[in-house]
Amino acid sequence: MARYRGSVCKVCRREGMKLFFKGERCYTDKCSFERRSYPPGQHGQGRGKVSEYARQLREKQKVKRLYGLMETQFRNTFAKAERIKGVTGGILISLLERRLDNVIYRLGFANEKREARLLVTQGHFLVNGRKVNIPSYSIRTNDTVEVAEKSRKMSRIGENLKSVERRGVPEWLSLDKENFKGTIMRLPRRDDVTIPIQENLIVELYSK
Ligand code: SF4
Repeated sequence: MARYRGSVCKVCRREGMKLFFKGERCYTDKCSFERRSYPPGQHGQGRGKVSEYARQLREKQKVKRLYGLMETQFRNTFAKAERIKGVTGGILISLLERRLDNVIYRLGFANEKREARLLVTQGHFLVNGRKVNIPSYSIRTNDTVEVAEKSRKMSRIGENLKSVERRGVPEWLSLDKENFKGTIMRLPRRDDVTIPIQENLIVELYSK
C-alpha cells in the first residue's frame, strides 16, 4: 500500500508541532522543528489567513500522519467511530490509540510508529500468546502484548526499551520490561493523548 514517503520532519513543521516521527532524534537539538519551526517551502514564513476548511483539512492530515494511516484506512476508522455511541471525535482518537502498532510504540518496543508497524508486520509480537502481524489489530482490556521468544535477542528492541523512560508508558498500559511484556489495563481515553489534537475539526470536515 502506498505510504507517505516525504520528509517526516517537514510534516512536523507544516503542522506547527513536534509529532515525534524520528525516535531519539526528536529529543535532541538535531530536531528540524527546534531549528525551523515555520512551515516548509518558499512561502513557509509568509502564509496569510487560512480558511476554516483548510484548518479542518490540516487537522485531519496531521492525525492521519501521526498514526501512519492512508486516507481510506483513516476514513474507515472514522466511520467505525461514528457507529459507536458517544462523542465521535474522542472515540476516533481512542480507536487509533488501540491499534497494535501504536501499542507497540507506546510500550517502548519501538522508537517511532513506522518502526512499530514494520516490527509488527515482521511477526515479532504475540497478543494473548498468539502471533499477530496486523498493525491495525485493535487491542482490548486485559490483552497481553509481548515480544516473541525468538525476537527478544534483537538489539533493536532492547535498545528501544532502554529509552522508553524518557517518554514514559501511558497509564492505560503496564510494562514488564524484564519479560518483554505489556498488559492493557484499560482502554485508552481521549485525555490520555497529550499531543494537541482538535478532533472536532475532523468531525466537521467529514460531516460536510
Ligand atoms: Fe518532528 Fe523533530 Fe522528530 Fe523531525 S526530529 S520528526 S521535526 S519532532
